Amino acid sequence: MIQTPTQPTVAIAGGGLAGLAAACALADSGFRVMLFERRPYLGGRASSYEHPGTGEVVDNCQHVLFRVCTNLVEFYRRIGVEDKIRWYDEMTFIEPGGRTSVMRASPLPAPLHTAPSFLRFPFLSAKDKFVISRAIAALTLTSQPDTGRSFLDWCRRHGQTENAIQRFWKPILISSLSEDLDLISISYAAQVVRESMKSPAARHMGVPAIPLTELYNRAGDYIRARSGQIRFRASLETFFSEPTQVKVRVSEAEETFDYLVLALPFDGLDRVLPETPEAVPLREKLTHFESCPITGIHLWFDRQISDLDHAVLLDRTIQWMFHKSRLLATRGNAQGDSGSYIELVVSASKTLIDKSRTEIVDLALKEVREFFPEARTANLVKSTVIKEVHATYSPRPGIDAYRPQQTTAWPRVFLAGDWTATGWPATMEGAVRSGYLAAEALMVACGMTDRKFLVPDLPASGLMRLFAR
Ligand SMILES: Cc1cc2nc3c(=O)[nH]c(=O)nc-3n(C[C@H](O)[C@H](O)[C@H](O)COP(=O)(O)OP(=O)(O)OC[C@H]3O[C@@H](n4cnc5c(N)ncnc54)[C@H](O)[C@@H]3O)c2cc1C
Repeated sequence: MIQTPTQPTVAIAGGGLAGLAAACALADSGFRVMLFERRPYLGGRASSYEHPGTGEVVDNCQHVLFRVCTNLVEFYRRIGVEDKIRWYDEMTFIEPGGRTSVMRASPLPAPLHTAPSFLRFPFLSAKDKFVISRAIAALTLTSQPDTGRSFLDWCRRHGQTENAIQRFWKPILISSLSEDLDLISISYAAQVVRESMKSPAARHMGVPAIPLTELYNRAGDYIRARSGQIRFRASLETFFSEPTQVKVRVSEAEETFDYLVLALPFDGLDRVLPETPEAVPLREKLTHFESCPITGIHLWFDRQISDLDHAVLLDRTIQWMFHKSRLLATRGNAQGDSGSYIELVVSASKTLIDKSRTEIVDLALKEVREFFPEARTANLVKSTVIKEVHATYSPRPGIDAYRPQQTTAWPRVFLAGDWTATGWPATMEGAVRSGYLAAEALMVACGMTDRKFLVPDLPASGLMRLFAR
């Protein structure tokens, strides 16, 4: 047990969701928190800023959550922004040409609640629906360990038709896991399916109604209100772990704390690890991670092009449309009430990385006009493209073996980040879980083993209670 006579101090490196969750939990538990963030704003990979080219405040990319993200929802409640999330219980799929199909829950018990709308989908044949239902049953009801093979391989071995793969599995899984099906591990795919089938509420999608950094600034207020501090443009360079303290070097100055939480992305952690033998196993694990890109295309039109708030787009490069001027309804937009602002999202956007901004906007406009007839006569007022090349870690077969726990070889140093071992893929929920797990591990090091921050998973309902794990 490690004890300190006065209020214990903790340095947290990284002001993304993982660092903020750890900081809020620890500040609330009597620790004096100092959070170091390299950038001038909070939120990390879930942030917003005033875009110099357009003069608009844009999210680096649209972020959504689901009701199964219980720790993220608790985090929003904790920092007082729960009412800034809009919840939707319907999901619209659109085919090129504009035909729409809506997925919504019926009164049937889980996992049958979406069956009536699924069975009516005109873009899937009877055979597609049969093989998909059989696959959902296998993924939901039986354990699916990581076999080292990809989900695409699993689909082929489980009789999935090409149409089922292209129009069902791709839209559902690529946007959830930000990776192509031939690189997604079966266990990650099964987790997404199982979580989304466990109850009707599980599929409810939440969309922030304010820009992301505005949302996460409230975590900064929460930390400051509990005598914590946030230092922007402060980059952790390295640390020295000693038996009774940790020294951190930040922007060429050295400071001493009782504990340190490293809440950095995997590609940023390597740079700050000390050149000591204890760092070797962790360094080795980091070499197994690869990242996957996500691209957001922001378009401002001189008129409305759709009355939908969001939609899944089938068969083209663009996967999602978010109607930002409706989602951020209280704000208005530069075109006045008659204009509209939409963001288009492409996950696992490897084919766009080498394309120019103009090429991507041209492609997006062409596709938008296929899905939304009103866009054919609308004028594009302005646009921008945000490529996040290192958006998320790739959930490849075998990767879980390399995701580190939150404790480290240094008793006073803890890890957080969406890529650490949380049982969740790279999501805001995964990041918050990692922050809470790091805070719990730190409490254990202080001898406070009964302090828990993680909250229970969403309970299964209906028939899914029989298969709850
Ligand atoms: C384009 C895109 C779309 C996404 N869409 C979704 C979505 O819809 N839903 C969802 O749940 N998730 C989504 N995600 C994933 C989600 O954003 C991440 O999983 C989550 O934000 C990761 O949080 P984190 O704290 O682990 O890491 P980060 O957010 O990367 O935070 C790490 C922080 O550390 C800082 N830092 C780095 N090095 C140093 C240093 N040396 N010293 C101090 N600070 C440092 C960084 O500036 C950063 O702020 C998306 C991600 C991207 C990029």
